[in-house]
Amino acid sequence: MKLKWFKKKFTFMVIPDNDPSRSVLRFRVHGLLLYVFFSIFFALIVISMILYIVHGKSSLLNSILAKKLTGQEQEYSQTVSSKDLTIEQLQNKVIQLSEQAAEIQSRIGEMQKLDEEVKLLTNPDKTAKKQVKAGTEVAQDSSNDKGGPMLSVTNEEILQLADNTQKNFKALGTEMTTLFGSMEQTKKKVINAIELLKISPTIWPVTTRHITSGFGFREDPFTYRPTFHSGFDIAGSFDDPVYVTADGTVISSDYDKLHGNNIVVSHSKGLRTWYMHLNKSLVSEGDHVTKGQQIGLLGSTGRSTGPHLHYEVKKDGVSVDPEPYLITARKEE
Ligand SMILES: [Zn+2]
Repeated sequence: MKLKWFKKKFTFMVIPDNDPSRSVLRFRVHGLLLYVFFSIFFALIVISMILYIVHGKSSLLNSILAKKLTGQEQEYSQTVSSKDLTIEQLQNKVIQLSEQAAEIQSRIGEMQKLDEEVKLLTNPDKTAKKQVKAGTEVAQDSSNDKGGPMLSVTNEEILQLADNTQKNFKALGTEMTTLFGSMEQTKKKVINAIELLKISPTIWPVTTRHITSGFGFREDPFTYRPTFHSGFDIAGSFDDPVYVTADGTVISSDYDKLHGNNIVVSHSKGLRTWYMHLNKSLVSEGDHVTKGQQIGLLGSTGRSTGPHLHYEVKKDGVSVDPEPYLITARKEE
């Protein structure tokens, strides 16, 4: 049936309206051609509709994706700016840390200098000879930095600074350990110096400091012959207090015609001090005495021409000049 329909021919007539003068137009079309024409026509309609729907959906999807993308872009932008801010803050922290390292370095330098100075104090002889070693690198003082061109830094520069700062902190740790050890030694030296000071006859044995006869050769006041005077004669009044000049032990507290009432005190390191012509002794043999303690009263007993103290310092049994020892005043003076 269908095949027959395809084989048929169809005639289309175009009749002009109300115009008998014009002839009727006739079109004869083959059935197959009509079928192909309508098939293509409907196919085009269907394709157009599909394209329209697809385009509509695609536009919607695009719009959604665009919105999503915009949101993500904003989020990304915020994240990036947040990261940038964090990086800047971290960079500033690195700079602050490097400044702190320099500050600590400077302080440690000062502490090292102080430690050296304290060490020298425990050994006064070397004070003048030894130059105090300055501390290590002194930090640059940026507190007065008020202006000038400020150049932005690169990430590489900050990384280098962070690296250097880390190295500086490590070095500081080592320096502090060394300084700690040095200060331990200083502490021992100070303790030793204090102990040495206690047992050294560094103070005056009487309040007056009027030496009537010094250490050395002189004319004997009794015989007028040249003699060697083995100590100091210090003038004073009867019963003036006589002080022991260093910590020690009383070796003897006796009387004899030559020295009168006299006291010998042993310190250490072979040092002894001798106090003669006392009006009265206040200590006995074996007594432990401390520097500045009153041990007797000034007098004129024994071979003496008037109230005075004969004060003598002996080192390993030999009388030495007391003067170099007299470097400090008594506590109460
Ligand atoms: Zn004398």
